Amino acid sequence: MTPGRMMDFPLTLTHLLDRARRLFPRTEIVSRQPDGTLHRQTWKDTYERSCKLAHALARLGVKDGDRVATLAWNHNRHLEAYYAVPMMGAIVHTLNLRLHPTEIGYIARHAEDAAILVDRSLLPLLNQFVASVPSVRQVIVMADDGPTPEGMLDYERLLEPEAIEYDWPRLDENAAATICYTSGTTGNPKGVVYSHRSNVLHALVSSLPDEAALSNRDAVLPVVPMFHANCWGFAHMAAAVGCKLVFPGPKLDPESLLDLMAGEGVTIAAGVPTIWIGILAQLDAHPKRWDLSRLRQMNVGGAAAPPSMIEGFEKRHGLFVLHAWGMTETNPVGTMARLKQDVADASPEERMSYRASQGYPLPFFETRHTDDQGRVLPWDGATMGELECRGPWVAASYLGDEGKDRWSADGWFKTGDVVTIDAAGYVRITDRSKDVIKSGGEWISSVALENALMSHPCVLEAAVFAGRHPKWDERPIAAIVWKKDKRATEAELTQHIAGDFAKFWMPDAYVFVEQIPRTSTGKFLKTRLRETYGAMLEGRPKKT
Ligand code: AMP
Repeated sequence: MTPGRMMDFPLTLTHLLDRARRLFPRTEIVSRQPDGTLHRQTWKDTYERSCKLAHALARLGVKDGDRVATLAWNHNRHLEAYYAVPMMGAIVHTLNLRLHPTEIGYIARHAEDAAILVDRSLLPLLNQFVASVPSVRQVIVMADDGPTPEGMLDYERLLEPEAIEYDWPRLDENAAATICYTSGTTGNPKGVVYSHRSNVLHALVSSLPDEAALSNRDAVLPVVPMFHANCWGFAHMAAAVGCKLVFPGPKLDPESLLDLMAGEGVTIAAGVPTIWIGILAQLDAHPKRWDLSRLRQMNVGGAAAPPSMIEGFEKRHGLFVLHAWGMTETNPVGTMARLKQDVADASPEERMSYRASQGYPLPFFETRHTDDQGRVLPWDGATMGELECRGPWVAASYLGDEGKDRWSADGWFKTGDVVTIDAAGYVRITDRSKDVIKSGGEWISSVALENALMSHPCVLEAAVFAGRHPKWDERPIAAIVWKKDKRATEAELTQHIAGDFAKFWMPDAYVFVEQIPRTSTGKFLKTRLRETYGAMLEGRPKKT
Protein backbone atom coordinates (compact mmCIF):
# COMPACT_ATOMS: atom_id res chain seq x y z
CA MET A 1 0.00 0.00 0.00
CA THR A 2 1.15 3.51 -0.78
CA PRO A 3 0.03 5.60 2.17
CA GLY A 4 -2.01 8.73 1.52
CA ARG A 5 -0.41 11.99 2.54
CA MET A 6 -3.16 13.57 4.56
CA MET A 7 -3.04 14.62 8.21
CA ASP A 8 -4.03 12.14 10.85
CA PHE A 9 -6.55 14.41 12.58
CA PRO A 10 -8.69 12.71 15.25
CA LEU A 11 -12.50 12.78 14.99
CA THR A 12 -13.35 13.92 18.51
CA LEU A 13 -16.21 15.71 20.27
CA THR A 14 -13.68 18.33 21.39
CA HIS A 15 -13.47 19.68 17.86
CA LEU A 16 -17.28 19.86 17.55
CA LEU A 17 -17.81 21.96 20.68
CA ASP A 18 -14.73 24.12 20.13
CA ARG A 19 -15.88 24.93 16.61
CA ALA A 20 -19.44 25.66 17.79
CA ARG A 21 -18.23 28.22 20.34
CA ARG A 22 -15.89 29.91 17.84
CA LEU A 23 -18.21 30.05 14.85
CA PHE A 24 -21.68 30.10 16.40
CA PRO A 25 -21.06 31.86 19.75
CA ARG A 26 -24.46 33.57 19.85
CA THR A 27 -26.63 30.63 18.84
CA GLU A 28 -28.93 29.65 21.67
CA ILE A 29 -29.49 26.57 23.80
CA VAL A 30 -32.93 26.99 25.36
CA SER A 31 -34.02 24.78 28.26
CA ARG A 32 -37.42 24.51 29.87
CA GLN A 33 -36.95 24.44 33.65
CA PRO A 34 -39.10 22.39 36.04
CA ASP A 35 -41.04 25.57 37.01
CA GLY A 36 -41.92 26.14 33.34
CA THR A 37 -39.63 29.15 32.77
CA LEU A 38 -37.06 29.13 29.96
CA HIS A 39 -33.32 29.25 30.55
CA ARG A 40 -31.14 30.59 27.73
CA GLN A 41 -27.43 30.24 27.05
CA THR A 42 -25.29 30.10 23.90
CA TRP A 43 -22.80 27.66 22.39
CA LYS A 44 -20.07 29.95 23.78
CA ASP A 45 -21.57 29.71 27.28
CA THR A 46 -21.88 25.96 26.84
CA TYR A 47 -18.21 25.70 25.96
CA GLU A 48 -17.14 27.85 28.90
CA ARG A 49 -19.35 26.02 31.35
CA SER A 50 -18.02 22.70 29.99
CA CYS A 51 -14.48 23.94 30.75
CA LYS A 52 -15.58 24.82 34.28
CA LEU A 53 -17.23 21.42 34.71
CA ALA A 54 -14.10 19.62 33.50
CA HIS A 55 -11.94 21.60 35.99
CA ALA A 56 -14.35 20.79 38.81
CA LEU A 57 -14.46 17.09 37.96
CA ALA A 58 -10.68 16.95 37.67
CA ARG A 59 -10.43 18.63 41.07
CA LEU A 60 -12.73 15.93 42.46
CA GLY A 61 -10.39 13.27 41.12
CA VAL A 62 -12.14 12.20 37.90
CA LYS A 63 -9.49 10.67 35.66
CA ASP A 64 -9.08 9.39 32.13
CA GLY A 65 -11.51 6.51 31.50
CA ASP A 66 -13.62 7.12 34.65
CA ARG A 67 -17.34 6.83 34.19
CA VAL A 68 -19.39 9.89 35.15
CA ALA A 69 -23.10 9.15 35.16
CA THR A 70 -26.03 11.49 34.56
CA LEU A 71 -29.55 11.02 35.91
CA ALA A 72 -31.26 13.93 34.24
CA TRP A 73 -33.88 15.29 31.86
CA ASN A 74 -32.89 17.16 28.69
CA HIS A 75 -31.37 20.55 29.52
CA ASN A 76 -28.27 22.73 29.22
CA ARG A 77 -26.41 21.16 32.15
CA HIS A 78 -26.92 17.71 30.71
CA LEU A 79 -25.48 19.05 27.45
CA GLU A 80 -22.44 20.36 29.33
CA ALA A 81 -21.85 16.89 30.79
CA TYR A 82 -22.34 15.37 27.29
CA TYR A 83 -19.26 17.33 26.17
CA ALA A 84 -17.07 18.10 29.22
CA VAL A 85 -16.81 14.51 30.43
CA PRO A 86 -15.66 12.87 27.16
CA MET A 87 -13.54 15.89 26.21
CA MET A 88 -11.48 15.48 29.40
CA GLY A 89 -10.93 11.79 28.54
CA ALA A 90 -13.56 10.35 30.88
CA ILE A 91 -16.82 8.66 29.76
CA VAL A 92 -20.31 10.05 30.23
CA HIS A 93 -22.85 7.38 31.17
CA THR A 94 -26.49 8.38 30.76
CA LEU A 95 -28.75 6.54 33.23
CA ASN A 96 -32.33 5.88 32.16
CA LEU A 97 -34.54 7.50 34.79
CA ARG A 98 -37.60 5.52 33.68
CA LEU A 99 -36.14 2.19 34.81
CA HIS A 100 -36.83 0.58 38.16
CA PRO A 101 -34.34 1.80 40.84
CA THR A 102 -33.01 -1.74 41.30
CA GLU A 103 -32.24 -1.87 37.60
CA ILE A 104 -30.58 1.56 37.58
CA GLY A 105 -28.49 0.40 40.56
CA TYR A 106 -27.44 -2.72 38.64
CA ILE A 107 -26.44 -0.62 35.62
CA ALA A 108 -24.48 1.96 37.67
CA ARG A 109 -22.66 -0.86 39.51
CA HIS A 110 -21.93 -2.68 36.28
CA ALA A 111 -20.49 0.46 34.69
CA GLU A 112 -18.61 1.24 37.93
CA ASP A 113 -19.72 4.87 37.81
CA ALA A 114 -17.39 7.11 39.82
CA ALA A 115 -19.69 10.13 40.11
CA ILE A 116 -23.32 10.95 39.34
CA LEU A 117 -24.75 14.27 38.15
CA VAL A 118 -28.40 14.29 39.17
CA ASP A 119 -31.38 16.62 38.72
CA ARG A 120 -32.68 17.89 42.01
CA SER A 121 -36.17 16.59 41.11
CA LEU A 122 -34.72 13.09 40.69
CA LEU A 123 -33.10 12.86 44.13
CA PRO A 124 -35.93 10.64 45.47
CA LEU A 125 -35.12 8.18 42.65
CA LEU A 126 -31.37 8.40 43.22
CA ASN A 127 -31.79 7.77 46.93
CA GLN A 128 -33.40 4.41 46.15
CA PHE A 129 -30.30 2.96 44.50
CA VAL A 130 -27.18 5.04 45.16
CA ALA A 131 -26.23 3.20 48.35
CA SER A 132 -26.00 -0.01 46.29
CA VAL A 133 -23.30 1.43 44.04
CA PRO A 134 -19.99 1.36 45.96
CA SER A 135 -17.96 2.90 43.13
CA VAL A 136 -19.78 6.27 43.40
CA ARG A 137 -17.52 8.79 45.13
CA GLN A 138 -19.51 11.99 44.50
CA VAL A 139 -23.10 12.96 43.86
CA ILE A 140 -23.45 16.36 42.19
CA VAL A 141 -26.90 17.95 42.29
CA MET A 142 -28.07 20.08 39.38
CA ALA A 143 -30.50 22.58 40.87
CA ASP A 144 -31.27 26.27 40.79
CA ASP A 145 -32.45 26.71 44.32
CA GLY A 146 -32.73 25.10 47.70
CA PRO A 147 -30.11 23.41 49.86
CA THR A 148 -28.08 20.46 48.62
CA PRO A 149 -28.49 17.36 50.82
CA GLU A 150 -25.72 16.56 53.25
CA GLY A 151 -22.82 14.70 51.61
CA MET A 152 -23.71 15.88 48.09
CA LEU A 153 -22.24 18.70 45.99
CA ASP A 154 -23.99 21.57 44.24
CA TYR A 155 -23.30 21.80 40.49
CA GLU A 156 -23.39 25.59 40.22
CA ARG A 157 -21.27 26.12 43.33
CA LEU A 158 -18.72 23.66 41.98
CA LEU A 159 -18.49 25.46 38.65
CA GLU A 160 -18.40 28.98 40.03
CA PRO A 161 -14.69 29.39 40.88
CA GLU A 162 -13.39 27.52 37.84
CA ALA A 163 -11.71 28.90 34.71
CA ILE A 164 -13.55 29.27 31.39
CA GLU A 165 -10.73 27.67 29.39
CA TYR A 166 -9.38 24.13 29.70
CA ASP A 167 -6.33 22.54 28.20
CA TRP A 168 -8.17 19.63 26.60
CA PRO A 169 -6.05 16.52 26.05
CA ARG A 170 -5.43 15.37 22.47
CA LEU A 171 -7.53 12.23 22.44
CA ASP A 172 -7.42 9.13 20.31
CA GLU A 173 -10.57 9.17 18.19
CA ASN A 174 -11.22 5.55 19.18
CA ALA A 175 -11.30 6.44 22.88
CA ALA A 176 -14.58 5.70 24.69
CA ALA A 177 -16.77 8.81 24.99
CA THR A 178 -20.27 7.75 26.00
CA ILE A 179 -22.05 4.73 27.50
CA CYS A 180 -25.72 3.84 27.08
CA TYR A 181 -27.27 0.61 28.33
CA THR A 182 -29.79 -1.35 26.29
CA SER A 183 -33.24 -1.49 27.84
CA GLY A 184 -32.75 -5.15 28.72
CA THR A 185 -36.21 -6.54 27.94
CA THR A 186 -34.45 -9.90 27.57
CA GLY A 187 -31.78 -10.59 30.17
CA ASN A 188 -29.76 -7.93 31.94
CA PRO A 189 -29.18 -4.57 30.27
CA LYS A 190 -25.91 -4.46 28.33
CA GLY A 191 -23.51 -1.53 28.12
CA VAL A 192 -22.84 -0.02 24.68
CA VAL A 193 -19.66 2.05 24.62
CA TYR A 194 -19.56 4.69 21.87
CA SER A 195 -16.25 6.19 20.81
CA HIS A 196 -15.52 9.81 19.88
CA ARG A 197 -15.12 8.60 16.30
CA SER A 198 -18.44 6.75 16.20
CA ASN A 199 -20.28 9.76 17.66
CA VAL A 200 -18.67 12.16 15.19
CA LEU A 201 -19.23 9.99 12.12
CA HIS A 202 -22.80 9.28 13.17
CA ALA A 203 -23.45 13.01 13.66
CA LEU A 204 -21.94 13.99 10.31
CA VAL A 205 -23.69 11.34 8.26
CA SER A 206 -27.04 11.73 10.06
CA SER A 207 -27.02 15.46 9.28
CA LEU A 208 -26.88 14.93 5.50
CA PRO A 209 -29.73 16.36 3.42
CA ASP A 210 -31.09 12.89 2.64
CA GLU A 211 -30.98 11.91 6.31
CA ALA A 212 -32.05 14.15 9.22
CA ALA A 213 -31.07 17.20 7.08
CA LEU A 214 -29.83 19.50 9.84
CA SER A 215 -28.44 22.90 9.00
CA ASN A 216 -27.14 25.93 10.81
CA ARG A 217 -30.52 27.61 10.32
CA ASP A 218 -32.43 24.95 12.29
CA ALA A 219 -33.86 25.02 15.79
CA VAL A 220 -33.93 21.42 16.98
CA LEU A 221 -36.10 20.06 19.78
CA PRO A 222 -35.01 16.59 20.94
CA VAL A 223 -38.03 15.24 22.79
CA VAL A 224 -36.15 11.95 22.79
CA PRO A 225 -34.44 11.82 26.18
CA MET A 226 -30.70 12.38 26.35
CA PHE A 227 -30.56 9.04 28.20
CA HIS A 228 -32.22 7.15 25.34
CA ALA A 229 -29.75 5.88 22.76
CA ASN A 230 -27.40 8.86 22.78
CA CYS A 231 -30.25 11.35 22.24
CA TRP A 232 -30.37 9.91 18.70
CA GLY A 233 -27.22 11.93 18.03
CA PHE A 234 -28.97 15.33 18.17
CA ALA A 235 -26.72 16.85 20.85
CA HIS A 236 -23.74 16.11 18.60
CA MET A 237 -25.39 16.95 15.27
CA ALA A 238 -26.50 20.35 16.61
CA ALA A 239 -22.93 21.27 17.56
CA ALA A 240 -21.63 20.01 14.22
CA VAL A 241 -23.89 22.37 12.28
CA GLY A 242 -24.04 25.03 15.03
CA CYS A 243 -27.82 25.25 15.20
CA LYS A 244 -30.17 26.24 18.02
CA LEU A 245 -31.17 23.55 20.50
CA VAL A 246 -34.41 23.57 22.46
CA PHE A 247 -34.66 21.23 25.46
CA PRO A 248 -38.04 20.38 27.00
CA GLY A 249 -36.80 19.49 30.52
CA PRO A 250 -39.32 17.27 32.31
CA LYS A 251 -42.43 18.72 30.59
CA LEU A 252 -43.29 16.22 27.87
CA ASP A 253 -47.09 16.57 27.63
CA PRO A 254 -48.39 17.51 24.15
CA GLU A 255 -49.49 21.00 25.16
CA SER A 256 -46.15 21.99 26.72
CA LEU A 257 -44.27 20.61 23.70
CA LEU A 258 -46.50 22.45 21.23
CA ASP A 259 -46.08 25.70 23.21
CA LEU A 260 -42.31 25.24 23.08
CA MET A 261 -42.27 24.42 19.35
CA ALA A 262 -44.37 27.44 18.47
CA GLY A 263 -42.68 29.81 20.93
CA GLU A 264 -39.09 28.95 19.97
CA GLY A 265 -39.62 28.58 16.22
CA VAL A 266 -38.62 24.92 16.26
CA THR A 267 -37.89 23.56 12.77
CA ILE A 268 -37.08 19.93 13.61
CA ALA A 269 -38.40 17.90 16.54
CA ALA A 270 -37.67 14.27 17.33
CA GLY A 271 -39.38 11.66 19.48
CA VAL A 272 -41.01 8.24 19.72
CA PRO A 273 -44.45 7.60 18.13
CA THR A 274 -46.37 7.90 21.42
CA ILE A 275 -45.27 11.52 21.73
CA TRP A 276 -46.42 12.28 18.20
CA ILE A 277 -49.69 10.39 18.55
CA GLY A 278 -50.48 12.61 21.57
CA ILE A 279 -49.47 15.74 19.67
CA LEU A 280 -51.59 14.80 16.65
CA ALA A 281 -54.65 14.32 18.88
CA GLN A 282 -54.01 17.75 20.44
CA LEU A 283 -53.63 19.41 17.02
CA ASP A 284 -56.79 17.71 15.74
CA ALA A 285 -58.68 19.09 18.73
CA HIS A 286 -57.22 22.63 18.36
CA PRO A 287 -56.00 22.99 14.76
CA LYS A 288 -55.51 26.76 14.92
CA ARG A 289 -54.06 27.17 18.40
CA TRP A 290 -50.34 26.90 17.60
CA ASP A 291 -48.31 28.57 14.86
CA LEU A 292 -46.11 25.74 13.61
CA SER A 293 -45.23 27.41 10.32
CA ARG A 294 -41.50 26.99 10.98
CA LEU A 295 -41.73 23.27 11.85
CA ARG A 296 -40.43 21.54 8.73
CA GLN A 297 -39.78 18.02 10.00
CA MET A 298 -40.75 15.66 12.80
CA ASN A 299 -38.36 12.75 13.22
CA VAL A 300 -40.03 9.61 14.53
CA GLY A 301 -38.29 6.41 15.58
CA GLY A 302 -37.70 3.97 18.41
CA ALA A 303 -40.88 2.11 17.46
CA ALA A 304 -42.89 1.81 14.24
CA ALA A 305 -44.59 5.02 13.10
CA PRO A 306 -48.14 4.12 11.99
CA PRO A 307 -48.87 5.31 8.40
CA SER A 308 -52.19 6.74 9.63
CA MET A 309 -50.20 9.08 11.89
CA ILE A 310 -47.82 10.12 9.12
CA GLU A 311 -50.80 10.82 6.86
CA GLY A 312 -52.78 12.55 9.62
CA PHE A 313 -50.01 15.10 10.19
CA GLU A 314 -49.50 15.62 6.50
CA LYS A 315 -53.09 15.83 5.27
CA ARG A 316 -54.73 17.59 8.22
CA HIS A 317 -51.88 19.86 9.34
CA GLY A 318 -49.40 20.07 6.45
CA LEU A 319 -46.60 18.67 8.66
CA PHE A 320 -43.86 16.35 7.43
CA VAL A 321 -42.90 13.19 9.34
CA LEU A 322 -39.54 11.49 8.79
CA HIS A 323 -39.44 7.87 9.98
CA ALA A 324 -36.10 6.40 11.08
CA TRP A 325 -34.88 3.15 12.58
CA GLY A 326 -32.07 2.62 15.03
CA MET A 327 -30.87 0.85 18.15
CA THR A 328 -28.81 1.69 21.22
CA GLU A 329 -26.19 -0.59 19.66
CA THR A 330 -26.06 1.52 16.49
CA ASN A 331 -25.30 4.96 17.98
CA PRO A 332 -28.36 4.85 17.13
CA VAL A 333 -29.51 5.69 13.57
CA GLY A 334 -29.12 3.09 10.83
CA THR A 335 -31.87 3.68 8.28
CA MET A 336 -34.14 6.57 7.31
CA ALA A 337 -37.29 6.51 5.23
CA ARG A 338 -36.85 9.29 2.67
CA LEU A 339 -38.20 8.84 -0.83
CA LYS A 340 -35.34 8.21 -3.26
CA GLN A 341 -35.36 9.51 -6.84
CA ASP A 342 -35.48 5.86 -7.95
CA VAL A 343 -38.97 5.45 -6.48
CA ALA A 344 -40.25 8.98 -6.99
CA ASP A 345 -42.66 7.89 -9.72
CA ALA A 346 -44.40 5.38 -7.44
CA SER A 347 -48.16 5.61 -6.81
CA PRO A 348 -49.33 7.62 -3.76
CA GLU A 349 -49.95 4.34 -1.85
CA GLU A 350 -46.48 3.03 -2.67
CA ARG A 351 -44.92 6.32 -1.67
CA MET A 352 -46.63 6.12 1.70
CA SER A 353 -45.45 2.54 2.05
CA TYR A 354 -41.82 3.69 1.57
CA ARG A 355 -42.27 6.60 3.95
CA ALA A 356 -43.77 4.32 6.62
CA SER A 357 -41.06 1.69 6.15
CA GLN A 358 -37.95 1.79 8.34
CA GLY A 359 -36.10 3.22 5.34
CA TYR A 360 -32.84 2.53 3.55
CA PRO A 361 -29.40 2.54 5.18
CA LEU A 362 -27.22 5.60 5.75
CA PRO A 363 -23.82 5.76 4.02
CA PHE A 364 -21.38 3.40 5.81
CA PHE A 365 -24.22 1.49 7.44
CA GLU A 366 -24.62 -1.92 5.83
CA THR A 367 -27.69 -4.14 6.15
CA ARG A 368 -28.58 -7.71 5.28
CA HIS A 369 -31.08 -10.23 6.61
CA THR A 370 -30.59 -13.91 7.28
CA ASP A 371 -32.62 -17.07 7.96
CA ASP A 372 -32.36 -19.43 10.97
CA GLN A 373 -29.28 -21.08 9.46
CA GLY A 374 -27.52 -17.74 8.94
CA ARG A 375 -28.05 -17.82 5.15
CA VAL A 376 -28.26 -14.36 3.57
CA LEU A 377 -31.73 -13.73 2.10
CA PRO A 378 -32.73 -11.94 -1.12
CA TRP A 379 -33.79 -8.27 -1.27
CA ASP A 380 -37.19 -9.13 -2.74
CA GLY A 381 -39.49 -7.28 -0.36
CA ALA A 382 -41.14 -10.55 0.71
CA THR A 383 -38.68 -12.93 2.36
CA MET A 384 -38.53 -12.37 6.11
CA GLY A 385 -35.39 -12.80 8.18
CA GLU A 386 -33.37 -11.26 10.99
CA LEU A 387 -31.85 -7.88 10.22
CA GLU A 388 -28.08 -7.72 10.64
CA CYS A 389 -25.88 -4.65 10.27
CA ARG A 390 -22.33 -3.41 10.38
CA GLY A 391 -20.55 -0.09 10.10
CA PRO A 392 -18.30 2.38 11.95
CA TRP A 393 -21.07 3.27 14.44
CA VAL A 394 -22.25 -0.26 15.16
CA ALA A 395 -21.16 -1.86 18.46
CA ALA A 396 -18.46 -4.52 18.07
CA SER A 397 -19.05 -5.89 21.60
CA TYR A 398 -20.82 -5.03 24.86
CA LEU A 399 -19.10 -3.75 27.99
CA GLY A 400 -17.63 -6.76 29.79
CA ASP A 401 -17.90 -8.84 26.62
CA GLU A 402 -21.39 -10.04 27.51
CA GLY A 403 -23.89 -11.25 24.92
CA LYS A 404 -21.33 -12.42 22.38
CA ASP A 405 -24.04 -14.42 20.55
CA ARG A 406 -25.41 -11.12 19.18
CA TRP A 407 -22.64 -11.08 16.55
CA SER A 408 -22.49 -13.44 13.56
CA ALA A 409 -19.36 -15.51 12.87
CA ASP A 410 -18.41 -13.00 10.17
CA GLY A 411 -18.82 -9.99 12.48
CA TRP A 412 -22.28 -8.56 11.71
CA PHE A 413 -24.50 -7.37 14.59
CA LYS A 414 -27.76 -9.33 14.89
CA THR A 415 -30.51 -6.83 15.63
CA GLY A 416 -33.30 -9.20 16.70
CA ASP A 417 -35.67 -7.41 14.31
CA VAL A 418 -37.50 -9.53 11.76
CA VAL A 419 -37.64 -7.70 8.44
CA THR A 420 -38.03 -7.80 4.70
CA ILE A 421 -35.70 -5.77 2.46
CA ASP A 422 -36.94 -4.75 -0.98
CA ALA A 423 -35.00 -4.35 -4.21
CA ALA A 424 -34.58 -0.61 -3.55
CA GLY A 425 -33.00 -1.34 -0.16
CA TYR A 426 -35.96 -0.26 2.00
CA VAL A 427 -36.16 -2.26 5.23
CA ARG A 428 -39.59 -3.13 6.68
CA ILE A 429 -39.86 -4.46 10.22
CA THR A 430 -42.53 -7.10 10.59
CA ASP A 431 -41.73 -7.86 14.23
CA ARG A 432 -39.22 -7.98 17.00
CA SER A 433 -38.07 -11.64 16.96
CA LYS A 434 -39.31 -12.20 20.50
CA ASP A 435 -42.74 -10.76 19.59
CA VAL A 436 -43.28 -12.84 16.47
CA ILE A 437 -46.68 -14.56 16.21
CA LYS A 438 -46.54 -18.04 14.70
CA SER A 439 -49.97 -19.47 13.92
CA GLY A 440 -49.90 -23.09 12.74
CA GLY A 441 -46.27 -22.56 11.67
CA GLU A 442 -47.08 -19.39 9.65
CA TRP A 443 -45.77 -15.94 10.60
CA ILE A 444 -48.22 -13.13 11.20
CA SER A 445 -46.82 -9.61 11.30
CA SER A 446 -48.07 -7.82 14.41
CA VAL A 447 -46.69 -4.51 13.12
CA ALA A 448 -48.70 -4.72 9.87
CA LEU A 449 -51.89 -5.49 11.82
CA GLU A 450 -51.25 -2.65 14.28
CA ASN A 451 -50.74 -0.16 11.48
CA ALA A 452 -53.98 -1.26 9.82
CA LEU A 453 -55.95 -1.08 13.08
CA MET A 454 -54.55 2.36 13.88
CA SER A 455 -55.98 3.64 10.60
CA HIS A 456 -59.52 3.08 11.99
CA PRO A 457 -60.98 6.48 12.91
CA CYS A 458 -61.87 5.38 16.46
CA VAL A 459 -58.50 3.78 17.34
CA LEU A 460 -55.79 5.80 19.07
CA GLU A 461 -53.34 2.93 19.53
CA ALA A 462 -53.24 -0.80 18.82
CA ALA A 463 -50.77 -3.47 19.92
CA VAL A 464 -51.05 -6.99 18.53
CA PHE A 465 -49.51 -9.89 20.44
CA ALA A 466 -49.55 -13.69 20.57
CA GLY A 467 -52.17 -15.54 22.60
CA ARG A 468 -51.54 -19.22 23.31
CA HIS A 469 -53.90 -21.46 21.36
CA PRO A 470 -54.55 -25.20 21.80
CA LYS A 471 -54.70 -25.95 18.08
CA TRP A 472 -52.64 -23.27 16.33
CA ASP A 473 -50.03 -22.75 19.02
CA GLU A 474 -50.40 -18.97 18.80
CA ARG A 475 -53.08 -16.62 17.51
CA PRO A 476 -53.12 -12.83 17.34
CA ILE A 477 -54.91 -10.76 20.01
CA ALA A 478 -55.27 -7.01 19.56
CA ALA A 479 -55.15 -4.57 22.49
CA ILE A 480 -56.98 -1.36 21.56
CA VAL A 481 -56.97 2.13 23.07
CA TRP A 482 -59.91 4.23 21.85
CA LYS A 483 -59.66 7.85 20.83
CA LYS A 484 -61.44 10.22 23.22
CA ASP A 485 -65.22 9.62 23.08
CA LYS A 486 -64.96 7.17 20.16
CA ARG A 487 -65.99 3.49 20.08
CA ALA A 488 -66.50 0.74 17.47
CA THR A 489 -67.50 -2.93 17.64
CA GLU A 490 -65.05 -5.82 17.26
CA ALA A 491 -66.77 -6.75 14.00
CA GLU A 492 -66.23 -3.23 12.67
CA LEU A 493 -62.54 -3.37 13.54
CA THR A 494 -62.11 -6.72 11.81
CA GLN A 495 -64.06 -5.53 8.80
CA HIS A 496 -61.83 -2.45 8.57
CA ILE A 497 -58.67 -4.53 8.14
CA ALA A 498 -60.04 -7.70 6.50
CA GLY A 499 -59.47 -6.51 2.93
CA ASP A 500 -55.71 -6.13 3.44
CA PHE A 501 -54.73 -9.50 4.91
CA ALA A 502 -55.23 -13.25 4.64
CA LYS A 503 -58.16 -14.47 6.70
CA PHE A 504 -55.96 -16.36 9.14
CA TRP A 505 -54.25 -13.07 10.12
CA MET A 506 -57.45 -11.67 11.66
CA PRO A 507 -57.20 -11.28 15.47
CA ASP A 508 -58.99 -14.00 17.43
CA ALA A 509 -59.81 -11.55 20.19
CA TYR A 510 -59.72 -7.88 21.14
CA VAL A 511 -59.02 -6.40 24.54
CA PHE A 512 -59.89 -2.78 25.25
CA VAL A 513 -57.47 -0.98 27.54
CA GLU A 514 -56.88 2.51 28.93
CA GLN A 515 -53.27 2.43 27.80
CA ILE A 516 -50.82 0.00 26.32
CA PRO A 517 -48.00 -0.98 28.70
CA ARG A 518 -44.67 0.42 27.55
CA THR A 519 -40.97 -0.08 28.07
CA SER A 520 -38.84 2.67 29.59
CA THR A 521 -38.15 3.99 26.10
CA GLY A 522 -41.73 4.03 24.86
CA LYS A 523 -42.03 0.72 23.01
CA PHE A 524 -45.08 -1.53 23.41
CA LEU A 525 -44.32 -3.97 26.23
CA LYS A 526 -45.81 -7.06 24.65
CA THR A 527 -44.41 -9.41 27.28
CA ARG A 528 -46.74 -7.68 29.77
CA LEU A 529 -49.71 -8.04 27.40
CA ARG A 530 -48.89 -11.72 26.93
CA GLU A 531 -48.63 -12.24 30.70
CA THR A 532 -51.99 -10.56 31.28
CA TYR A 533 -54.05 -11.76 28.32
CA GLY A 534 -51.97 -14.54 26.68
CA ALA A 535 -54.08 -17.36 28.16
CA MET A 536 -57.48 -16.01 27.13
CA LEU A 537 -57.72 -18.20 24.01
CA GLU A 538 -56.85 -21.45 25.76
CA GLY A 539 -59.79 -23.82 25.61
CA ARG A 540 -61.27 -21.99 22.61
CA PRO A 541 -61.70 -23.73 19.28
CA LYS A 542 -60.24 -21.83 16.34
CA LYS A 543 -62.71 -19.48 14.74
CA THR A 544 -63.56 -20.14 11.14
P1 AMP B 1 -33.47 0.73 21.57
O1 AMP B 1 -32.14 0.14 21.60
O2 AMP B 1 -34.10 0.81 22.92
O3 AMP B 1 -33.51 2.01 20.85
O4 AMP B 1 -34.39 -0.28 20.76
C1 AMP B 1 -34.09 -0.68 19.45
C2 AMP B 1 -35.26 -1.40 18.85
O5 AMP B 1 -36.38 -0.51 18.74
C3 AMP B 1 -35.04 -1.90 17.44
O6 AMP B 1 -34.33 -3.10 17.41
C4 AMP B 1 -36.47 -2.04 16.95
O7 AMP B 1 -37.07 -3.25 17.42
C5 AMP B 1 -37.18 -0.88 17.62
N1 AMP B 1 -37.26 0.24 16.69
C6 AMP B 1 -36.46 1.31 16.63
N2 AMP B 1 -36.86 2.15 15.64
C7 AMP B 1 -37.93 1.57 15.05
C8 AMP B 1 -38.78 1.91 13.97
N3 AMP B 1 -38.64 3.04 13.29
N4 AMP B 1 -39.77 1.04 13.64
C9 AMP B 1 -39.94 -0.10 14.32
N5 AMP B 1 -39.18 -0.48 15.36
C10 AMP B 1 -38.18 0.34 15.72
